[in-house]
Amino acid sequence: MTFRYSLDKTTPTRLYKCPSCGKRTLKRYWDNENGNYMPDDVGRCNREVNCAYHLTPKAFLEKIGSNYAPIAIGRHSKEVILLPTYIQKSYLDRTMNRDDPNNLIRYLRRLFKEDLTQYLVNRFKLGTSTYWKGSTMFWQIDERMNIHAGKIMLYDSDTGRRCKHPFNHIQWAHSVAKWKDFRLDQCFFGLHQINTHEAKSICVVESEKTAVLMTALIPNVIWLASGGMNLSIENFRPLKQFKLILFPDVGVEDRNGKTPYQKWQDKASLLESLGYTVSVSSVLENKATIQQREKGYDLADYLMKTDTELGLALNDNAYPVSWDFNSNTFPTQQYDKH
Ligand SMILES: [Zn+2]
Repeated sequence: MTFRYSLDKTTPTRLYKCPSCGKRTLKRYWDNENGNYMPDDVGRCNREVNCAYHLTPKAFLEKIGSNYAPIAIGRHSKEVILLPTYIQKSYLDRTMNRDDPNNLIRYLRRLFKEDLTQYLVNRFKLGTSTYWKGSTMFWQIDERMNIHAGKIMLYDSDTGRRCKHPFNHIQWAHSVAKWKDFRLDQCFFGLHQINTHEAKSICVVESEKTAVLMTALIPNVIWLASGGMNLSIENFRPLKQFKLILFPDVGVEDRNGKTPYQKWQDKASLLESLGYTVSVSSVLENKATIQQREKGYDLADYLMKTDTELGLALNDNAYPVSWDFNSNTFPTQQYDKH
């Protein structure tokens, strides 16, 4: 048996402003069924002698004329829709055009030179985080320009590889800022482009960096990254009118005996049955060696060729990708219409 309401048991204890004495001493009640706080005056003041404020869930519900059901019937019941939290644009703005080092942008500059790099930075709103020296902020912005999340990752500026030692350098803006009650609802990285750039096809890769690199190599489609999130049908909803091509990393089988390719194929079949136009590219799956599989080889690893001397990215004709940038092959940027 689970009780539906209980005082917030989070440690360290989260205390809120008491509606009676005004001090930050109120412990709030938690609704275990929908996994959220009760309204902000439902709680107990810690100053038991000097204040003694206590509004119980029962008293609160009776006050507003609702039924009090103390036993939980199931967690996260479907009747309650919890709204995601969005991040204010001022946080994004603060991470743009910082003077602090950004290893990924440094890496892009070597591959693509200044103009194309700036184009990519603006297009994807690549921010700079000071959480780790040189780290990058990937903002997940949806088609309505809501900012869902900021994912911080650290790269090596020479190799462009993620820093995974001595630990995997991944952090979130909302965790760093310690925003209370932040409800993370991820969206595709790059999703905002469907409103700011015209394209008929959308290609989905796993890594944010790969979406950025592929935009330089193949600019006439929109590149999105799943960022390793567990994709739900809801995530694909804004993409229904597009032709979708999914590019899973190559990888080894997971605990359920499925490779990333098989998992994305399952997802694609489901999407197809719902009326989406979607295919899963097998180009990597058919080519990868065992070693590449273990390393999680991806499309950019496969397609990106660099000049041995300067490290410039080369296109199919073996000349630098940055040369194409000025010849109008890149779609016009319409970002500022928002
Ligand atoms: Zn009080």
